[in-house]
Amino acid sequence: MQVTIVGGGMAGLVLARALAGRGITPTVLEAAPGDRTIPGPIMLPYQAYDALREIGLYETIRSAGREIAPAADGTPVAIGIGRQFIIDQLREGVRIEHLHRVIDLLRDGERVVGLRAATPAGERDFSADLVVGADGAHSNVRGLAGISATLSAAPTASLSFRSPVMIEEPFAMAYQSDGRQVGLLGWPGGAAGWWQIDRIGRDAALAPGYEAYCAGFARLLPAAAPALTGVRSDEQLIYREATEVRCEQWWAPGVALIGEAAHAIDPEAGIGAGLGFGDAQALAVAVAQAPDAGLAGETYEHWRRPAVAPYEHVGGAGARLIPDAPAGERPAHERWPPA
Ligand SMILES: Cc1cc2nc3c(=O)[nH]c(=O)nc-3n(C[C@H](O)[C@H](O)[C@H](O)COP(=O)(O)OP(=O)(O)OC[C@H]3O[C@@H](n4cnc5c(N)ncnc54)[C@H](O)[C@@H]3O)c2cc1C
Repeated sequence: MQVTIVGGGMAGLVLARALAGRGITPTVLEAAPGDRTIPGPIMLPYQAYDALREIGLYETIRSAGREIAPAADGTPVAIGIGRQFIIDQLREGVRIEHLHRVIDLLRDGERVVGLRAATPAGERDFSADLVVGADGAHSNVRGLAGISATLSAAPTASLSFRSPVMIEEPFAMAYQSDGRQVGLLGWPGGAAGWWQIDRIGRDAALAPGYEAYCAGFARLLPAAAPALTGVRSDEQLIYREATEVRCEQWWAPGVALIGEAAHAIDPEAGIGAGLGFGDAQALAVAVAQAPDAGLAGETYEHWRRPAVAPYEHVGGAGARLIPDAPAGERPAHERWPPA
């Protein structure tokens, strides 16, 4: 059985490992070069743990990361860890073709039976019983497969910082008057913080400079003050506007979508990777059980949709203290850029 996974991000790599554990060796095609590194941390939530346990990486990631809010049994609600560390762990033993950008799907009638990738050596065709789109929110596979999706701008943007300073408590959060977050995360590489601001564009967000940002951030979240001493340049500030994705269907004959290709939820929810890990695990089970791998996507969606639907329904607002606060003028100290 040949499964070809498009996208070597977290969701695609978890699927590759989960399939390998079931005796199926997939190929991962990744557009980026093998030496691309993804900076900064992620707060990996508990929704990822089942898949991590199954592929044997839960203890590795937990012990390498910083544990957020352990429950009575010691299980953390999330793990603060470097994104690249997770990718490096997941990649082990996986066959990945880098610099392979998928540009077309091959069909036999209505059914997808392979794909075409652009590579440095020219175009290359791959036949597949199942093509998996794990190629992110702007998935090419999704469009090529004719799976319709609604893309929309996430309602707020974030202006984050990265600092090399190690902090004592790995997590702190405050809420603004409209319920949006200001948060702080400790990870083995230092600390990072995020401030949910209006979508004002990168130039306007960065114009006041890091000193004004640090002062404003510390006022909203005093626990971040030690971490902010490590912010000494505008380069350490990251402005992000995210895209949300909703799909009516996550599969077509010969194709299945997982991770942000299937559902991208406002990052304010802090849940995306957790859901992608769960998708990968569910699809691996469906593929291993399906008499026809090309139709495994239907079973996968049947099982997985009810688990993801509540998160899709509440979106980023589910992570707010005041989900339906009326939009209004923010108090002066919450406004960015400052008046
Ligand atoms: C600002 C921000 C903060 C976040 N914070 C959190 C958090 O704290 N916790 C959490 O759980 N989640 C978080 N998320 C979500 C999380 O980052 C993603 O869910 C996670 O990275 C998994 O995404 P993915 O593997 O589905 O897609 P991606 O990570 O987007 O991977 C897709 C891969 O496909 C490749 N690709 C794309 N097109 C092609 C093509 N045509 N051919 C071949 N390869 C292709 C890309 O190069 C990429 O490597 C956050 C997201 C954002 C934007």
